[in-house]
Amino acid sequence: MHTCSLERMKDKIGTFAKYGDAGHGGITRYSLSAEAHLARDEFSRRMRAIGAVVETDDMANVYATLPGSEPGLRRIAMASHVDSVKNGGNYDGILGVICAMETLEAVAAGGIAHRHPLTAMIWTNEEGSLYPPAMMSSGVITGKFDKKTVLASKSVLDPTKTFGEALAASPYLGDEKNRLSADAYAAMFELHIEQGPILEAAKKDVGVVTCVLGMVNYRIRTRGQADHAGTTPMSYRKDALFAAAQALMYLHEKLDELDPALVYTTGEIKCHPCVHTVIPDEVDFSLDARHEDPAVIARVVAIIEGMPKEFAGCATSYERAWARDTVYFDKRLVGFVKESADALGVSNRYINSGAGHDAQFVSYMMPTTMIFVPSKDGHSHCELEYTAPEQCAAGASVLLNAVLKADAALG
Ligand SMILES: [Zn+2]
Repeated sequence: MHTCSLERMKDKIGTFAKYGDAGHGGITRYSLSAEAHLARDEFSRRMRAIGAVVETDDMANVYATLPGSEPGLRRIAMASHVDSVKNGGNYDGILGVICAMETLEAVAAGGIAHRHPLTAMIWTNEEGSLYPPAMMSSGVITGKFDKKTVLASKSVLDPTKTFGEALAASPYLGDEKNRLSADAYAAMFELHIEQGPILEAAKKDVGVVTCVLGMVNYRIRTRGQADHAGTTPMSYRKDALFAAAQALMYLHEKLDELDPALVYTTGEIKCHPCVHTVIPDEVDFSLDARHEDPAVIARVVAIIEGMPKEFAGCATSYERAWARDTVYFDKRLVGFVKESADALGVSNRYINSGAGHDAQFVSYMMPTTMIFVPSKDGHSHCELEYTAPEQCAAGASVLLNAVLKADAALG
């Protein structure tokens, strides 16, 4: 078994934390911003220094490749993202890129023989923080998103600016022929922080990811009557917000009777007219529910679609916004991750991903899997994000050995 360097990992984690440093322990590094370009420059410089060839594609994804001993073989990729949310942390995305770099550095430094070309990769605009949607370029490359539509995506800070303009201005804009594809790549690995508390609670240093949870997303509406807040006796009211509160209570009670692994959230609520002197006449709220088992998701759907037609005198309605099935990662690759962690003596357990990642889109295209490392106190998408350097290095070592197992086994 091979191991990665803790010192090199610490150096990279500290270096990349400077690009977009917001001054209080975290970063704001929107995709294709000056800060993100500095991170890409650092990546490219370090990868060229070990003899990797750096290429970019038409979505400005960056690929650094070390040749293998059998040039006819497809590449094996390790990828994540360098962009962050506003006031994000130093681990989400960037740690996967750092571990991909570390894998190539360990291979180069140790003269580790490998048959396939090995590629460390940066995905453009995974977060979609400045230009929605999230997972933008993996969505385009795997045919989930229309490229023209995403090029027209407007900046959330300045609607006169588009993603397409930022892309055209990027020195990393490259050729479509360099895109990750099943013809050119045999597999993809993505290491990522867990973004939840499960590994830490279980005292495990690595999560062997098996799937990305299936989910459904509904919009639920209650419709009442707008009236004056001071002159309408309580018994006359049709208060859509009070009805929405009752609907939410009803849904929580019913959903809590399902499997304890089910997670569900109302994160968005629109209240009309949202004026403090007016009884709300219409409320629209989201319900996002996630579980691995489609049978549980089907029961969630049955509860939502079977809820009472009226609460507090207000009519209820629903609309399915979108859904996705559970995405299972490639069993062979999952096995390579598990075997590597076990052989290295890195404590580990199987885990699923409740969050979406580029790897989820790529898994429709080629064998793909993910490796998780713990998130201290479960925090992510905030400056409190933290994973101990030893855990980061352990994750990198698992990635290195899993890639080498794939290199030995895959054609
Ligand atoms: Zn991420």
